[in-house]
Amino acid sequence: VYLDIAWIREKIKDSEAHIKRKLPSMYHQFKELAGIDITQEAMEVGPTTHYVMGGIRVDGDTQMSTAPGLFAAGECAGGLHGANRLGGNSLSDLVVFGKRAGEHAAVFAKEHGQGTINQEQVDREVRRALEPFEREQGQETSYQVQHDLQKMMQEKVGIVRTHKEMAQAIEALDGLRSRAMTCSSPGNREFNPGWHTALDLGNLMTIAEAISRSAIERTESRGAHFREDKPDKDPDWGGVNLIVKKDESGSMQIRREPVPEMRDELKQIIEENK
Ligand SMILES: Cc1cc2nc3c(=O)[nH]c(=O)nc-3n(C[C@H](O)[C@H](O)[C@H](O)COP(=O)(O)OP(=O)(O)OC[C@H]3O[C@@H](n4cnc5c(N)ncnc54)[C@H](O)[C@@H]3O)c2cc1C
Repeated sequence: VYLDIAWIREKIKDSEAHIKRKLPSMYHQFKELAGIDITQEAMEVGPTTHYVMGGIRVDGDTQMSTAPGLFAAGECAGGLHGANRLGGNSLSDLVVFGKRAGEHAAVFAKEHGQGTINQEQVDREVRRALEPFEREQGQETSYQVQHDLQKMMQEKVGIVRTHKEMAQAIEALDGLRSRAMTCSSPGNREFNPGWHTALDLGNLMTIAEAISRSAIERTESRGAHFREDKPDKDPDWGGVNLIVKKDESGSMQIRREPVPEMRDELKQIIEENK
């Protein structure tokens, strides 16, 4: 997409001063990093992945997940930003909730000691991690599978979503998962990003499936989730969170839970800042 500066000029009176005043950071970045004065020339803009709104379910105060002793903060944690993170809020989230997570993890460690290590589990994970080296080499690489996963998710579960395309994405994930099981990782264990990508693939598939299934389930548009086939907000969905969990058979299950009621002291802070 190209923003046509002539069009902007037509639309905005006193455009140069307006851009410098209203978009100072944008103006500065283009000028410093690309040598482009966006008050004079067109700038190229394009969509990119900016933030993952869902994530590991944590307690809002301690940041502990539903797995005791596992703490999460920042972009991997879910719930704080609702359907759309506002610009700038991620970095304050990291500072505030990173501190809380660290403090509560330290308290937990003091209270619970080191815990026991299940050697069988460790051995199983080591075997799983080294397995890509044992595959027949010369197959397609992990990078190719990662690239195709990215492309497929961008096309089918991207900015504008429909039920039909998201269902196609879930189907396509089966094929990509099979390819991820056989793709090769040449080289050895030292400094081998191809191997790391092979290890990442399993996690990427899980996240892609959780996003696709939740997005199909949420039959409305809200925040960054926009559905062409359900373009409006539905007030009933406004009070619902979707929780994704692995069931006993290993498949992904989704359930609906009411959004927790806001505590009175938080409501009061919002009132005070209105
Ligand atoms: C283009 C862009 C612009 C943004 N602009 C802003 C902004 O202006 N203001 C704002 O507040 N936010 C902004 N954000 C969002 C913000 O930058 C991120 O949300 C934030 O940096 C996330 O921090 P984090 O520590 O939670 O995760 P990350 O910074 O993603 O850190 C996770 C770390 O874990 C490592 N890791 C991953 N897997 C493994 C593994 N298996 N083992 C070991 N390590 C692993 C990764 O290498 C990484 O270093 C922007 C994001 C993007 C993409």
